[in-house]
Amino acid sequence: MTETLATTPDLTHAREVLRHTFGYSDFRAPQDRIISHLIGGGDALVLMPTGGGKSLCYQIPAIMREGTGIVISPLIALMQDQVSSLRQLGVRAAFLNSALTPEEAGQVEQQLLQEKLDLLYIAPERLLKPRTLELLRQTRISLFAIDEAHCVSQWGHDFRPEYMQLSLLHERFPETPRIALTATADKPTRREIVQRLSLQQAGEFIAGFDRPNIRYQISENNGNAKQRLLQFIHQEHPRESGIVYCLSRKRVDEIASWLQANEIDALPYHAGLDTQTRQHHQSRFLRDEGVVIVATIAFGMGIDKPDVRFVAHLNLPKSIEAYYQETGRAGRDGQAADAWMIYGLQDVITLRQMQVASDADEQHKRVERHKLDAMLAFCEITSCRRQRLLDYFDDHLEQPCGNCDTCLQPPETWDATTASQMALSCVHRTGQRFGVNHLIDVLLGKENDRILKFGHHQVSTYGIGIDHSAAQWRTVYRQLIAHGLLSVDLEGYGGLRLTQASRPVLRGETQLMLRKARKRKAKERGERPHALELSDSNRPLWQALKSLRLELAQTQGVPAYVIFHDATLMEMAQKRPRDKQQLATISGVGDRKLERYGDAFLSVLKNNLESEQDLPADGVN
Ligand code: ADP
Ligand code: ZN
Repeated sequence: MTETLATTPDLTHAREVLRHTFGYSDFRAPQDRIISHLIGGGDALVLMPTGGGKSLCYQIPAIMREGTGIVISPLIALMQDQVSSLRQLGVRAAFLNSALTPEEAGQVEQQLLQEKLDLLYIAPERLLKPRTLELLRQTRISLFAIDEAHCVSQWGHDFRPEYMQLSLLHERFPETPRIALTATADKPTRREIVQRLSLQQAGEFIAGFDRPNIRYQISENNGNAKQRLLQFIHQEHPRESGIVYCLSRKRVDEIASWLQANEIDALPYHAGLDTQTRQHHQSRFLRDEGVVIVATIAFGMGIDKPDVRFVAHLNLPKSIEAYYQETGRAGRDGQAADAWMIYGLQDVITLRQMQVASDADEQHKRVERHKLDAMLAFCEITSCRRQRLLDYFDDHLEQPCGNCDTCLQPPETWDATTASQMALSCVHRTGQRFGVNHLIDVLLGKENDRILKFGHHQVSTYGIGIDHSAAQWRTVYRQLIAHGLLSVDLEGYGGLRLTQASRPVLRGETQLMLRKARKRKAKERGERPHALELSDSNRPLWQALKSLRLELAQTQGVPAYVIFHDATLMEMAQKRPRDKQQLATISGVGDRKLERYGDAFLSVLKNNLESEQDLPADGVN
């Protein structure tokens, strides 16, 4: 299929744009098919993982087709960097949003009318204004790209009401191709996108969901989450940028201060901070190296910083989609990255209670409950996480991945049938209204006021659990809840109740294997796929290239990765090109950047060569 397409004239031209403008040698599947489809005037729905290369799918056709490509993107704060990146490549791009003064906006509108733009980024609320629609009517439009298309889904976690009205594009501009793009959409969400955006005739392009460079790790919270996070950052990602997600604003502030106190350049981000502070923190994260942002999930959508090396969750996301999307912000550049999560009993209880208490209708609640159940089951599995994750999106991986915690350090299981019977029976004997702490006290035969008050020293499960520690009982209860054998009360006090599913276990009809709490062994890191390999001898050069990049970025007030990505500098450090012709073969070096920055980088490379030659040969001593 690709062969035949490659010979069509359209793709030959597209390949030239890819090579000369973007500096890349080849399309990644299915970019070529999507581009060819759009150039031919078709509509498209594109599902591609983060970092898969969605933007090229509309940028190249917009550059090639007559007129301006209109990109609808939900976050105005990030349009600036996207436009800067394109301008660096010599692409005529602009944005229209409320950050512009009326004069600036007027100039952009003029450029649009005079057909001087290849791409124009607009927020949906701006686009939908009668004035903007009228402006577009007078313009030649090459295509509409609807980014983050899952925002149209009411069930999703990023729902944006304005997205619902985007079907109007089809009505007003029936001849203009539209491309909707997203990185997360299970089948129902996909159907919703098609329906709400009137994409029934669109070609569907679904790339695999796998992010092989991300290592998934989930472990249980033993009450030392903060310490473990710190250790993880110190050991695995010193001075690298990352995102830490927490459930509440209070926790965000607490964790950010704790990391700061431990010499990590961490900054909080949540809706309780004023706009200016938020923007400042976001821009430090984007522009400076090695900033860790601690945030509620309000942070992250649309962030296309390529070198986020880890995403850490200190709480359980509400669904596998949310988990996949949030962790997906790591390693967009394709280099090794970590998705690290710690979760515990309290998360399960809190999320279950939040769902019960929400005022959504029954159908909505049911959907949410299933999503949370799937997420919990994902946390507790003993087989490969990646296989399960991909399964959830109807994608498949033949072999266990070798790059997740369960593959690297297979969890042990134990026959917890008897322990589970004790735990469940204790719930039953105490009237199905007490929380985990009290239940554990009863199992361990504690003597406290509450126990005496309720006469629980007289129930048959009193003191029968002394062979296990309180911590072990907590993991048992957590897993019983996660597996749906216990439910959390409706009143919100955290009382546990038996479910239908617990009966066979109580009656001894089924055996129950549970995960053992993991003992933290000495680090076994295993092979690290996609890790940037830098030999010691290349390190000084790499540093020199990075400082040049930083200097260039700072003079222009853009993030460093807008000049060149890490991977591009790394390739320079390894291949050490000597002239522009050689430099042009490095991935990420297109015509414009070669012309603008070629001499500066070549001179760093040359100086380095000379200083290496001045050094005495290795191995003398
Ligand atoms: P997405 O929007 O799908 O998350 P991007 O469009 O930001 O992904 O692309 C991710 C990264 O991959 C970017 O750095 C982009 O420049 C790079 N990229 C995209 N397509 C190609 C390609 N064909 N060859 C090399 N790099 C590519
Ligand atoms: Zn695995």
